[in-house]
Amino acid sequence: MQPDLHSHTTASDGTLSPAELLSAAVEAGLTTLAITDHDTTAGWEQVAGTAPDTLQLIPGIELSTDWNGIGIHIVGLNIDPAHKAIQRAVSLQAEARRQRAGQMLDKLRKRRIDLSMDELLSDYAENLPGRVHIARMLLDKGHVKNIQQAFTKYIGAGKSAYVSSNWMELADVIKCINDSGGVAVLAHPLKYSMTFTKLSRFLDDFVAAGGQAMEVISGAQNKDSTLRLARLCKEKQLLASCGSDFHQPGQVWARLGGTALLPDDCTPVWTGW
Ligand code: MN
Ligand code: MN
Ligand code: MN
Repeated sequence: MQPDLHSHTTASDGTLSPAELLSAAVEAGLTTLAITDHDTTAGWEQVAGTAPDTLQLIPGIELSTDWNGIGIHIVGLNIDPAHKAIQRAVSLQAEARRQRAGQMLDKLRKRRIDLSMDELLSDYAENLPGRVHIARMLLDKGHVKNIQQAFTKYIGAGKSAYVSSNWMELADVIKCINDSGGVAVLAHPLKYSMTFTKLSRFLDDFVAAGGQAMEVISGAQNKDSTLRLARLCKEKQLLASCGSDFHQPGQVWARLGGTALLPDDCTPVWTGW
């Protein structure tokens, strides 16, 4: 079975604990799984060394960054989670998250919605707050009717409590991944609403900064898109990755281990592992 190189646990915004994710991977028949939580390796650390012999566990991370005002996600695969370069990235991103969340709570307070930062960090966000955690808290406290409304009313881009992110720079993200022995992979290229021309320009900057791979397949995507991405991947001489971007059971578009096979003419990122 083809590896699944993109997945989340409760250490970021997934709903399965790392141990539950491992069980789900075994059940799905996976032989290689990367845990790529947002901006943390804490999930991987909880289960390192506990995977059965039939399952190769790859330490990974998904780091948020920004390119020309577009929020971009870079997956680091096969990193050494104990390396100081990746630990530096983890602490910088955590600080950026806390700062941004604090500013968003301040803005909500001006709208007479008083959410406690301590409660957000402990009960919702495992100390790594993101907008979805604030949304879940707004929902629980009865300020919105559903998660979507939290975004359209308050914390979506341009809304009254929105604060733009202050992530590490793209080049710095890639360098941290490379320095800690990992491969930098552009995550889910179709999720940025970029034209292929713009995506191609992004990839030029990505490669110049040391980026080595891109997800040619992310979750369920149509065959035409896969072929176009495969072409772009080859043109930029990048390795090809694939992953479900699994967050929770029941998401049909992101079934664990459920991605289509990479096209034959791609060089898989796991070649040589
Ligand atoms: Mn996520
Ligand atoms: Mn992502
Ligand atoms: Mn992801």
